[in-house]
Amino acid sequence: MSQPASSGQRAAGEREDAQVARLLTWLSATAIGFLIGIGAKAWFAGHTTHAWVLWCFIGLIGLNMLNFARTGNRVRQKGGLIVIVGLLFTYLIASGGESNTGPLWFYVFPPLLFYLTDLKTGTAVLLFCYLVAVVVFQFPDLPLVAAEYTTDFKIRFFATLTFESIFCFVLEAGRLKARNELVALAEAHEHAARTDELTGLSNRRDMHNRLATEFSRYQRSGHHFSIALIDLDLFKNINDRFGHDAGDEVLREFAALVKTLIRQTDVAARWGGEEFLVLLPDTSVLQALAFAERLRFEVAGKTFGFRSEALPVTISAGVCSIAKAGSLDDLLKQADVNLYSAKESGRNRVAPRVRRQETGPTVASGR
Ligand code: GH3
Ligand code: MG
Ligand code: MG
Repeated sequence: MSQPASSGQRAAGEREDAQVARLLTWLSATAIGFLIGIGAKAWFAGHTTHAWVLWCFIGLIGLNMLNFARTGNRVRQKGGLIVIVGLLFTYLIASGGESNTGPLWFYVFPPLLFYLTDLKTGTAVLLFCYLVAVVVFQFPDLPLVAAEYTTDFKIRFFATLTFESIFCFVLEAGRLKARNELVALAEAHEHAARTDELTGLSNRRDMHNRLATEFSRYQRSGHHFSIALIDLDLFKNINDRFGHDAGDEVLREFAALVKTLIRQTDVAARWGGEEFLVLLPDTSVLQALAFAERLRFEVAGKTFGFRSEALPVTISAGVCSIAKAGSLDDLLKQADVNLYSAKESGRNRVAPRVRRQETGPTVASGR
């Protein structure tokens, strides 16, 4: 069963489509040049009908180019060109072109087709073209069929074309597989570069990027945001009493709890060691304080366990809103000052402390 395309694969596909569209424009222009030249040669050789048919194909290619320039529809540009080229090659086989060399142009088709379409569509179109070629070869008396080919030529034509088609299919399948593996690898690296390995949260670098993005949004459109800087209390004691593995487990469990409490638009990151930063877009300082207080409450009430031992875990948090800071540095500094003040006033607290009438009964910092 084929895997659904990842966002990276879709982005790579989009880039390739844009590249193919540019290539097709050049290819169409080159084909027009060729058809003018070959048509003129046929005209001067006295094959006026052949010349006119070739020039008609110039009109079709031109129309396809115009339509793409007007609508920008890449699928139609691609589909249109495949149909036109298919018709042209069928005509060349049926008419024999100049000195019965028309079928030779058919060799251009398989690589072009597999490059422009996916493997399934390419194979289906190719099989259809084979069928048309077989009909033309087998029934030279059909209307519009003017050429007759020797049996040797027909056998060699199909044998070489089949060989070429299989070769193109295998090469294109290999190219797609390698491309998808490369994209998956790049995605895995990209994910690892912005994720904290222990907790699965964003890492400091990713949070810096997200803060910068949110700050630009705030400067552009005035969307407020807040942050909560959270530190696990007396974490060194947990490591010392229960071991480093127990400490790691607490960090993991805490991160999992944070994930359940934040909204989809919020971002939680491991800021370093046992310190975490939560970015809360479109959130006032009071709402951020309410969130931090809820988290503090949940942590204090949760039983963190490691190998049947219950570990005492509490957190302190410093909250700040961008409305109260002039820059990102200032915002982080003020959150840090508030965190320090929460620690100073006894830990298991959220700072700044707000007067009850400001927040109502829902936010009650500290014990
Ligand atoms: P405070 O309440 O003042 O924050 O006290 P604290 O003990 O939490 O702070 P301190 O800075 O003295 O100690 C932090 C400890 O966190 C020390 C360090 O070994 C531990 N730590 C940092 N990163 C990890 C980690 O990834 N795993 C474990 N198990 N411990 C960690
Ligand atoms: Mg600590
Ligand atoms: Mg700390």
